[in-house]
Amino acid sequence: MNIHTAQIAPAFKEFGAPPPARTKTPPPPARSPKVDPIAAAAIETAPEFNSLINEVHALKRRVLVLAGKPEGGAIRAQQVEADFRNIVTAIRFGTPFIQCPKGPSCAKACVLCKGRQWLVKEESERIPKATC
Ligand SMILES: [Zn+2]
Repeated sequence: MNIHTAQIAPAFKEFGAPPPARTKTPPPPARSPKVDPIAAAAIETAPEFNSLINEVHALKRRVLVLAGKPEGGAIRAQQVEADFRNIVTAIRFGTPFIQCPKGPSCAKACVLCKGRQWLVKEESERIPKATC
């Protein structure tokens, strides 16, 4: 019997053994939507889409600078600008934005993502509230 036990043992006799230590029950985990790994991986690439858009802008500027020089005089600057604008719009539109709210693991029959697992911003803004 060590000193500690020797001091406490008489108290046990008088008051009984202490109640078992209360184990703290962890709070239930907050309900978080399950993450779809395919959607998460796609959404992580969004900065790459922005980077591409910046490169397209830079290329457009180079073409327009050339169009302003005598040797680029036959370049149709307005057409170049319109075409680059379309490219930027297409890339921006196609940028993965959020996981499909019907996911994870949507089938191809999913009315929102059609099995892609994620939505672009414009698609996410068109979701009727009652759908999710
Ligand atoms: Zn879906």
